[in-house]
Amino acid sequence: MANEPARRKPKLHRGKVLRTERLTPHMIRVVLGGEELAGFGAGEFTDHYVKLLFPQPGVTYPEPFDMELVRAEMPREQWPSTRTYTVRSWDADAAELAIDFVHHGDKGLAGPWAARVQPGEEIYFNGPGGGYAPSADAGWHLLVGDESALPAIAAALERLPAGAPARVFIEVIGPEEEQPLAAPDGAAVVWLHRGGGQVGDLLVEAVQKLDFPGEDVHAFVHGEANFVKTLRRHLRVERGLPMERLSISGYWRKGRDEDGWQSSKREWNRQVEAEEADALA
Ligand SMILES: Cc1cc2nc3c(=O)[nH]c(=O)nc-3n(C[C@H](O)[C@H](O)[C@H](O)COP(=O)(O)OP(=O)(O)OC[C@H]3O[C@@H](n4cnc5c(N)ncnc54)[C@H](O)[C@@H]3O)c2cc1C
Repeated sequence: MANEPARRKPKLHRGKVLRTERLTPHMIRVVLGGEELAGFGAGEFTDHYVKLLFPQPGVTYPEPFDMELVRAEMPREQWPSTRTYTVRSWDADAAELAIDFVHHGDKGLAGPWAARVQPGEEIYFNGPGGGYAPSADAGWHLLVGDESALPAIAAALERLPAGAPARVFIEVIGPEEEQPLAAPDGAAVVWLHRGGGQVGDLLVEAVQKLDFPGEDVHAFVHGEANFVKTLRRHLRVERGLPMERLSISGYWRKGRDEDGWQSSKREWNRQVEAEEADALA
């Protein structure tokens, strides 16, 4: 969708797993470090993200690893698979990068990797990209997401101006998935428990029913693509929010792995924008 995280020239890094921590039953923190991370650098945005590179099984890559060379000389099916993850925190002094992974089951690459990876293992990644941080002069803030956007929402809460009114809706499976958040005074955080329901249904309902507490909202809405699409239409068409005040995109799509979602995203976004333009005409 428009207002995707801004694109930058990808910079390749190699991180060593320093430790892992199960924050909740379905959320695993992996902390990366190592000498090569010293030049990583992140901080401008609260939705900084990296693209982790997962090698294809049985494929040998050039040493030292060089993604440009891989792209130029190897068939596409041998290129590593990429998975996009938020920089939950970057400690420049310690050169430690924390990433929080939803462990959504046995399917996929990144979730299962986070569940099994051991200290000492290494992973290549590109980044950081990013495009949103809570605006200091907004009238109020709206933060909405499922657990895949929880790391970015947690980072945004840490950066909200003190006393800034904020309405925050986070949907997780149940109470065991809630995390302590450093929310400033003025931020009302509501945890929604979907249980066996459809991801995002509760978020849509909550935002549709919300009495906006003022003018000039700056909004961050991310997570599963279908509910994000519904909320985008609501915020743009029914609430009249301009795109400049809205960071909104599908972070993943039910039934598609990241490769499938990324390859269909352009067409998905084109349709969303066309329907929205019709509704606004
Ligand atoms: C900018 C950006 C930042 C992101 N930040 C984070 C982050 O910090 N933490 C995080 O956990 N995710 C984050 N995501 C989402 C993450 O990239 C996707 O969830 C990704 O598909 C996970 O890869 P995988 O290898 O585990 O599963 P895949 O191989 O991509 O998918 C396997 C199956 O699992 C399903 N699936 C994928 N993600 C989920 C999920 N969250 N819940 C339930 N089912 C799922 C797919 O639909 C598919 O059916 C971010 C995405 C973007 C674009």
